Amino acid sequence: MPAFTAPLRTLMGPGPSDVSPRVLAALAQPTIGHLDPEFIRLMDETKVLLQYAFQTKNQMTFPVSAPGSAGMECALVNLLEPGDKAVVCVNGVFGGRMRDIVGRIGGTAIVVEDTWGTPVDPQKVEDALKQNPSAKVLAWVQAETSTGAESDSATLAKLGHAHGCLLVTDTVTALGGTPLKVDEWGLDAVYSGTQKCLSCVPGLSPVTFSERALDAVKKRKTPCVSWFLDISLLMGYWSGENRRAYHHTAPINANYALHEALTILREEGLENSWARHRKHHLALRAGVEALGLSFVVAEAHRLPQLNSISIPAGVDEAAVRKTLLNEHGIEIGAGLGSMAGKIWRIGVMGHSARQENILKVVGALETVLRAMGQKLDAGAATAAVRKAYGS
Ligand SMILES: *Cc1c(COP(=O)(O)O)cnc(C)c1O
Repeated sequence: MPAFTAPLRTLMGPGPSDVSPRVLAALAQPTIGHLDPEFIRLMDETKVLLQYAFQTKNQMTFPVSAPGSAGMECALVNLLEPGDKAVVCVNGVFGGRMRDIVGRIGGTAIVVEDTWGTPVDPQKVEDALKQNPSAKVLAWVQAETSTGAESDSATLAKLGHAHGCLLVTDTVTALGGTPLKVDEWGLDAVYSGTQKCLSCVPGLSPVTFSERALDAVKKRKTPCVSWFLDISLLMGYWSGENRRAYHHTAPINANYALHEALTILREEGLENSWARHRKHHLALRAGVEALGLSFVVAEAHRLPQLNSISIPAGVDEAAVRKTLLNEHGIEIGAGLGSMAGKIWRIGVMGHSARQENILKVVGALETVLRAMGQKLDAGAATAAVRKAYGS
């Protein structure tokens, strides 16, 4: 069997995003031991870099050695015990995943449902919190990648605090792409992913736990249902002044990559990164609208990094994605769940949020849609993108 050679792609879907050459180079360095003092130094630096990315002073800030879904599970299994109640906001796939995890822990999920493509409605959350004064946790997804809608974490956090809840926030797609202020908003257990706006390889889940969350963990009556994700065991590995006890073997090279991706974010600056995502989103929007396509999410709640676009009548959406991939080397995303077959999801994340990528995806979409018989003026969409860039 020949060696596997990965094709070159332009990743403009819901993640992974394009990984920068600097991150790939970091990944390819020699593997060292996970208790090597140099690796421990890398772990310490990664913690500081993550504190910056999350805007927190939380000591318990580190990457879980598994993808974003493991970060989600880590937050919930540590804060909830069987019999506990959690108010879970569901306005897309990932809110639904949180609800399922609460159920598997043996907790009760009080579900606040909102239509896919809209943000979580704070009024409904307040009503649910009033009706369930014993709820221990309020959980929501800031950036719903399945729809492209952003929920207002600052407002939801205020409501959760007013009702004495611990706050669990999914920031997998939010981190690095859109404002996120863990300490200012008082979030308690926050998890993210590496392959969205950080543009790192998939497989790690940065998390951060507040002192309030760690106090709640100490007061548990039952042990955490997961051994691997038990924060009280992980604490000995990721903190504890160079007294790192063996817990598991961290994915060494993936951690090199994360350190480099976070260094790139710090060099650019968070505010600049948020502004860059917005700038390229606006250019994409100009192109999408020139193609006669419309956004699923109302402008005020649109995530710059995840653009859900309605599929025009008479277009075979899967054939478009296939042609984009096979002939143009571009990946865009399909709809998930109730939005399957109805939308495309174009990611503008991290290293993919660049002018050349926006021009490429809009130009290719124009070519493919025209070839499929859509009445579009050749070059009009890319001209609209150039105009949005002022060039
Ligand atoms: C991608 C994603 C996840 C899951 O991350 P994986 O790394 O795929 O496990 C969770 N929540 C949101 C909002 C996501 O976009």
